[in-house]
Amino acid sequence: MQTLEKIDYVFKVVVIGDSAVGKTQLLGRFTKDEFCIDSKSTIGVEFQTRTLTIKNKVIKAQIWDTAGQERYRAVTSAYYRGALGAMLVYDVTKRQTFDHVARWVDELRAHADTSIVIMLVGNKADLVDLRTIPTEDAIEFAEEQELFFSETSALNGDNVEKAFFRLLEEIHGVV
Ligand code: GDP
Ligand code: MG
Repeated sequence: MQTLEKIDYVFKVVVIGDSAVGKTQLLGRFTKDEFCIDSKSTIGVEFQTRTLTIKNKVIKAQIWDTAGQERYRAVTSAYYRGALGAMLVYDVTKRQTFDHVARWVDELRAHADTSIVIMLVGNKADLVDLRTIPTEDAIEFAEEQELFFSETSALNGDNVEKAFFRLLEEIHGVV
């Protein structure tokens, strides 16, 4: 049960990236610690929250999901409005989703606040035999673009907490 706590900050974080890279599952893993086996494409749900403490401050992370709009390149500027952080997700087994990361960075630079903290996330790291994107390639890109970087598995939970906490701590350092 959650006690009535004073919330010091609300941090809006957007999750972006191509369709089917695991955005919704990452969100479910972080906010509910679950992986939904037959997940359908996201419909309707706008955001989920998790309240946590960073450096003695109570932070409500309000994490927004694209609701399937990524398919039509229709993520609107309202989605980015007020966002302090972004999780930019690709699938380590799908080259195209990594190739599109640059386009998503452009989207962020065009629509989001200039101080937005961006975490590049290579998801599905559990699919070891199907990997097509070497970690080093992503690290290189992240350094060039000044993004934080992590590889995760929403399926087994590896690094999911770590990636979200890292992003939230960084936002905390910026605000
Ligand atoms: P979204 O379109 O980016 O929101 O992607 P979803 O979260 O709906 O996930 C797309 C598909 O990838 C689903 O079939 C998930 O079960 C699967 N998936 C998501 N994350 C992982 C992961 O970390 N590992 C594996 N093996 N599959 C995943
Ligand atoms: Mg989704």
